[in-house]
Amino acid sequence: MDRPLPSSPSSAATDMARRTAVGTQSAAGTSMITKIPVRTRLRDVGLRPTRQRVALAEILFSHGHRHLSAEDLHAEALTAKVPVSLATVYNTLNQFTEAGLLREVAVEGTRTYFDTNTEDHHHFYVEDENRVFDIPGPHVEIGDLPPAPAGMEIVRVDVVVRLRNKR
Ligand SMILES: [Zn+2]
Repeated sequence: MDRPLPSSPSSAATDMARRTAVGTQSAAGTSMITKIPVRTRLRDVGLRPTRQRVALAEILFSHGHRHLSAEDLHAEALTAKVPVSLATVYNTLNQFTEAGLLREVAVEGTRTYFDTNTEDHHHFYVEDENRVFDIPGPHVEIGDLPPAPAGMEIVRVDVVVRLRNKR
């Protein structure tokens, strides 16, 4: 956090959708939308470019920014004739996340999405459809954050604005 936080006192849940992102830019613009070959990108973050990692990374990163569950990626891998188990997909996604190639977005206890956009941003979640997408622009303002407990620092704040179709 290299900028003072706005000190708006609003904290009601109904204000959630109106808050604006804490304006921290992730270090060195780590956007994964780039023309750097997958093998190089894997090596750059210390991962050996095995055949499976390269195949999965190509599927993941060749479609722009998106949000995938392990099951989604597994299905795409099978469609692309990449023979890989769901367990391997999970392991690979976790390795990519630890290496900073992906960001985890947890919206339910049971469901995790992996986001190819590693910049600071927030999400809409459509409950009926289990669908996650980025909140465009600087629309979420986090006011009145609690101080981190002694010996700790805040890494980032994730906002998920939950949606449903009007009834
Ligand atoms: Zn996202």
